[in-house]
Amino acid sequence: MMLPNELNEVIELVKNHTIWRKKECINLIASENVMSPLAMILYMNDMMHRYAEGKPFKRYYQGLKYVDELEVKTQKIMGELLGTEYVELRPISGTIANATVYKSFANYGDKAVVVPVQAGAHVSHTRYGTLGALGMEQVEMPFNLEEWNIDVDGAVKLIQQVKPRLVILGGSLYIFPHPVKEIAEAAHSVDAKLMYDAAHVLGLITGKAWENPLKLGADILTASTHKTFPGPQGGLIATVTREDYKKVGKVVFPMFVSNHHLHRLAATAVTGIEMKLYGEEYAAQILRNAKTFAEALAENGFKVIAENKGYTNSHQVIIDVKEHGGGAKNAQLLEEANIIVNKNLLPWDKPEDIKNPSGIRLGVQEATRWGMKEDEMKQIAEYMRMVVIDKKDPSIVKEKVKEFRKNFIEVQYAIKISAEMEEELLKIMLHPTRI
Ligand SMILES: *Cc1c(COP(=O)(O)O)cnc(C)c1O
Repeated sequence: MMLPNELNEVIELVKNHTIWRKKECINLIASENVMSPLAMILYMNDMMHRYAEGKPFKRYYQGLKYVDELEVKTQKIMGELLGTEYVELRPISGTIANATVYKSFANYGDKAVVVPVQAGAHVSHTRYGTLGALGMEQVEMPFNLEEWNIDVDGAVKLIQQVKPRLVILGGSLYIFPHPVKEIAEAAHSVDAKLMYDAAHVLGLITGKAWENPLKLGADILTASTHKTFPGPQGGLIATVTREDYKKVGKVVFPMFVSNHHLHRLAATAVTGIEMKLYGEEYAAQILRNAKTFAEALAENGFKVIAENKGYTNSHQVIIDVKEHGGGAKNAQLLEEANIIVNKNLLPWDKPEDIKNPSGIRLGVQEATRWGMKEDEMKQIAEYMRMVVIDKKDPSIVKEKVKEFRKNFIEVQYAIKISAEMEEELLKIMLHPTRI
């Protein structure tokens, strides 16, 4: 049968995207990653068609005996990685995890003290995002630009003065750990909960390359499961106490999810097991790569943020490209060279700079997962110089990037299965009736 034209177009788009982004590009978007083939195969399971409202073994639907067991097992794996028994996996994204925590611990009209937007807060921490949608007021902590971190004394005073219901740490532009201990003490002294948004750094925490906020006084951790933690797109909430866990469990369903995209449980579990096996090695390599990348960019003439602090302790490196035409223009040129990045506001930018901010945010976690190490970081810094500083034709650099990518075609820090097992599993996922 001839396939309808529009169908061919759909197939083409998916093929083109996948080959381009997975095979020909260097991806430096700090919030993205790739799953292992095994996690992807199991992601295609029948649970994507099912509903499981309620908690494991206490559902409103039948047919879930395997789902219940898998959800509990995945909670256990993630709990072991995070050092707590209390993990809620039903939020389908980091944003939904945050909304769940806000609704669980605060009310309409309450205040939340958050990291300032220019210094890395996520939109879900602001009046424009879920915080605002739930009627909460965003109060920004002071930021110390020299330290590239929260001004601890100022933030403590602010918390004591404002007496918020919630304090939120963690962010999207995030190169140094926030001061959890001091802020937790201040929050608890006014009876506020401290929520730590670990969306970006979950994989560093599970790999023990970033401090675990739950051990330092944070009450609740929220995260996405697809940034430095290289799993399927999804969210989670981890708590220290059983009481808080129960509270969020009563809010996430029925308030923020109905089905919770059940097929991601298996992929999250596989990724969690991979992180138990290889996570420390992976996270340590991410930190080495980020540091090397920052230094190499500086050597190539880039203005890299936080030189006085050693540039970065996370997976991110931030550059200021205002003198080269700004973040928007250069992000576009880099895309034409198959180097994928995003423009970003820097603390000194004005709100009207949003269309062409000074900064570009870079993350090395996906490059690391493809097996790239220090030498490759130096090479990527050179490709970036050619485009941004030397103003070389991006299409020439693109050919070099495509050639370079040919050496990094297999996801690392992953469980490898035999070709036969892969085929067998794919057959079960796609055509269970044929076996
Ligand atoms: C990405 C991000 C989120 C939102 O996560 P989604 O899974 O995209 O909803 C929340 N908080 C921070 C700090 C983030 O960086």
